[in-house]
Amino acid sequence: MKDGLSRLALPHEKGCYLLVLCLSTAQQIRVGKLGELTFQAGFYLYVGSALGAGGIAGRLKHHLTSQKRHWHIDFLKSMAVLQEIWYRGTEWGGECQWATELSKFSQLSCPHVGFGASDCRCVAHLFYCPEPTALLSVRAAMQETSRILVLP
Ligand SMILES: [Zn+2]
Repeated sequence: MKDGLSRLALPHEKGCYLLVLCLSTAQQIRVGKLGELTFQAGFYLYVGSALGAGGIAGRLKHHLTSQKRHWHIDFLKSMAVLQEIWYRGTEWGGECQWATELSKFSQLSCPHVGFGASDCRCVAHLFYCPEPTALLSVRAAMQETSRILVLP
């Protein structure tokens, strides 16, 4: 995965990112303190922020290369395939702002309350999308404010 990462040319600016993960079959996954959760087959959109020194590139390096399970998303990520990375600079607000925007899409639902949102007041930072055409329409709506990377 490291070679793939170096070809992605991710920015070092600070901002927010969104991981699009695909789960091909329904799974029971133990997610840290949230315990054992059921995930239906489909797409999962996870929003996070990258405000550290390495910016977006540094944060995504963790997601693309580390096997550590620290954040809620690390547990889901270990069972799913990362398909796309969306990202945008801080001028569009923080991760909670992005999660609020996503919560307004009828194509998306909240699979597990509290996922990725231990430290804020959002319902969750994880969204579920059952099928590809719905995902495409959300992506199209986000293209004005976000950069979209589709992984090979
Ligand atoms: Zn939040």
